[in-house]
Amino acid sequence: MRRNRRVKIVATLGPASNSPEMIARLFEAGVDVFRINMSHATPDGVKKVHTALRTAEANFGRPIGILCDLQGPKFRVGNIDGERVGLASGAVYRFDANETAGDAHRVFLPHPQIFEAVEPGHTLLLDDGKIRMIVRAKSGGTIEAEVLVGGMLASRKGISLPDTVLPVGPLTEKDKKDLDFALRLGVDWVALSFVQRGEDVKMARQLIGQAAAIMSKIEKPSAITDIDEVIAHSDGLMVARGDLGVEMPVEKVPGLQKQIVSKARAAGKPVVVATQMLESMVASPVPTRAEVSDVATAVFDGADAIMLSAESAVGQFPVEAIAMMDRIAYEVENDPSYPALVHATRTPPLATAADAIAAGAHTVADTLKLACIICYTATGSTALRVARERPGLPVIGLSPVVATGRKLALIWGVHCVLTSDPENQAAMVRKACRIALEEGFARPGEGIIIVAGVPLGSPGTTNMVRIAFLDEAGNPVAEGA
Ligand code: PEP
Repeated sequence: MRRNRRVKIVATLGPASNSPEMIARLFEAGVDVFRINMSHATPDGVKKVHTALRTAEANFGRPIGILCDLQGPKFRVGNIDGERVGLASGAVYRFDANETAGDAHRVFLPHPQIFEAVEPGHTLLLDDGKIRMIVRAKSGGTIEAEVLVGGMLASRKGISLPDTVLPVGPLTEKDKKDLDFALRLGVDWVALSFVQRGEDVKMARQLIGQAAAIMSKIEKPSAITDIDEVIAHSDGLMVARGDLGVEMPVEKVPGLQKQIVSKARAAGKPVVVATQMLESMVASPVPTRAEVSDVATAVFDGADAIMLSAESAVGQFPVEAIAMMDRIAYEVENDPSYPALVHATRTPPLATAADAIAAGAHTVADTLKLACIICYTATGSTALRVARERPGLPVIGLSPVVATGRKLALIWGVHCVLTSDPENQAAMVRKACRIALEEGFARPGEGIIIVAGVPLGSPGTTNMVRIAFLDEAGNPVAEGA
């Protein structure tokens, strides 16, 4: 089975889609990577879903990626007497360390780190930004804030501090437990929520190592300030527009999305655009025109993947939402303006052998009108560097490592086939021709280009390019260097 688009689709699992039957239907409709949101998952539920995903993978004979999204440090206020209270604009509101239920004047804030780091002038956002305050004073265990935009404050609502760099690591105790559980089961990507700086990713890496690829969710202003370091330490990024649009003015989100996508592409790290892409499809079988345009923008920008959250997790039309994303992506990628737009944001290759070879292979393939680029890839790095080029022809990753196939499920344009490494270069060319033919990427008489790091299996040694033309039987008939 092959997709007829280059951008990948990530779908969040939830009550609307957790069953083995729905997982199979969603895969058939176009999902490449399934996201498990640990904020709403139980160990038993994760285990069941994991089994269903690996079963679907075996049944379809295609690598399927699993993305485990950790909850991260999410802060909440304490209880309110009577469960909710109205806060008027202009009032002064107090946060303190007193555990008794809050009222119209004060509330318990069970996070000493906030008292430590917040300063007068910093913004406080409650309930996803519906209530906005500015800190006027801080003393010991109390924060006094002026309500700028009032509203109803309910018990245990979330509080965000867009201006404050908090002295917290990227993983809470719950995250560490969830991570341990997920890594034991085996997941391909781990998403870190509320990353504040590159150092956070480095700390998470000490726990995760190479057991899974790390995706940093960009949703805090501080992560944007430190974006180069965050990218350097991450394997991929997510533009987490939900929280990003709470922590920063929503009108800044489109520009930030463009910047993050282009920086990730320049680094050759995959980037996912997430949240509210087809939000109205939670309750409607068709999206709004604006949502279609939003999905199209991410595809034109050359993002690696586009993601569904509530639409596939709790919505009434998960299959329709995936099918709709698939159709939008197909139309955009076949639009005459697509090649120019997707390459407008391309950056030159880095001065490395891998990038020079990837760029060279792309040029040769275009010049000779070859049918596809075949990458022998053990860790996925050769395929990633080729995908960074956003070539107009299909990219096939051949790997003996199942974890690599699953990780590459997220990468723009890469169709991964699991196969053992060939023994020598002649076998490498034969195998590449055969698979290109079998998978429907090349026809007899057409040519392919092969990129690899030899000896095969040695990570980061992309150093070889071969051209081969297929005879009527799909065997190589001629080669160049
Ligand atoms: C987001 O905020 O956009 C996001 C993807 O994170 P979550 O769904 O975990 O809130």
